Amino acid sequence: MSPLSKEELEKELRTYVGVKTGPPQVGPEPVNESMINHWCEAIGDRNQVYTDPEAAKRSVHGGVVAPPTMLQAWVLRGIEMADPTTMKRNKQTELHQLLSECGYTSVVATNCEQAYSRYLRPGDRVSTTTVIESISEEKATALGIGYFINTRDVFRDQHGEEVGWMTFRVLKFKPNQALQAARGAAAGSGVAAGSGVAPVKPTRMRAPRGHDNAWWWEGIDRGELLIQKCSACGTLRHPPRPMCGACQSIEWEAVRSKGRGSVYSYTVLLHPKFPGYDYPLVCALIELEEGTRIVSNLVGCEPDEVRIGMPVTLSIEKVDDEMKLPLFRPAQ
Ligand SMILES: [Zn+2]
Repeated sequence: MSPLSKEELEKELRTYVGVKTGPPQVGPEPVNESMINHWCEAIGDRNQVYTDPEAAKRSVHGGVVAPPTMLQAWVLRGIEMADPTTMKRNKQTELHQLLSECGYTSVVATNCEQAYSRYLRPGDRVSTTTVIESISEEKATALGIGYFINTRDVFRDQHGEEVGWMTFRVLKFKPNQALQAARGAAAGSGVAAGSGVAPVKPTRMRAPRGHDNAWWWEGIDRGELLIQKCSACGTLRHPPRPMCGACQSIEWEAVRSKGRGSVYSYTVLLHPKFPGYDYPLVCALIELEEGTRIVSNLVGCEPDEVRIGMPVTLSIEKVDDEMKLPLFRPAQ
């Protein structure tokens, strides 16, 4: 199967937004005291309204209730969720499959929010409906480039009454080459450890190139630092974007920077250390002579030598086999 282009993929992704992943999932077991006891033991929750029927009877609840945070536990499908041979095809697994086929093979959960409408009691039967609420545009993250997928679950009881909801966000991403290379090197894969051959050097994260900024990166590839200039009012802008913030014109041209500027502000990055970068890393906001600013790395000097206002010159350098970056060095 030939992989889709980015446009085709994103068009396809949009068809999943607002879609129910499938019919309601009914919990395999009704709310029950055994599972509540196990949960409380594992979590270390000693609240007697969950585990002591006598104490619970005397409480405002009049009997045992389930911890509200167990909500999702009542509908989890166990090993079936992780086993592709038994996993039921639904819109969510289909969406993940589509992204995997296009190279976004990894997944990580990033956010979860829950709300509870009432306490669940033994005998309640919980079911859930999941809707794919939104899919982000392609994002560059430390883990790699990918799409954030937000889902919303509504939980109902045996009478169809809502008992709570949950939003869940995952990042479905192309594992960062830099991290992969670092892990490969650490695991001794590719190049045998101790063979005397240098492990593959991890590369820096790739900037996404899209409709609005590819021209700028192509300039860097040619060795030119370009600045976007509004054709209507002449205002310069960076980073590249479709519209002038001063007059809202979408007509623009590009001017080539002479590559001279000064340090407007800076910070020294020490942690966390991403593979592919040398630390300490000086991240500086450079005021270009043309009158606009750009965030870049300052190289060729010690971090404690950097000063606000320090004159710097552009140096477009190959940072690995495939990528050039506009770096700055202290002016001679
Ligand atoms: Zn303008």
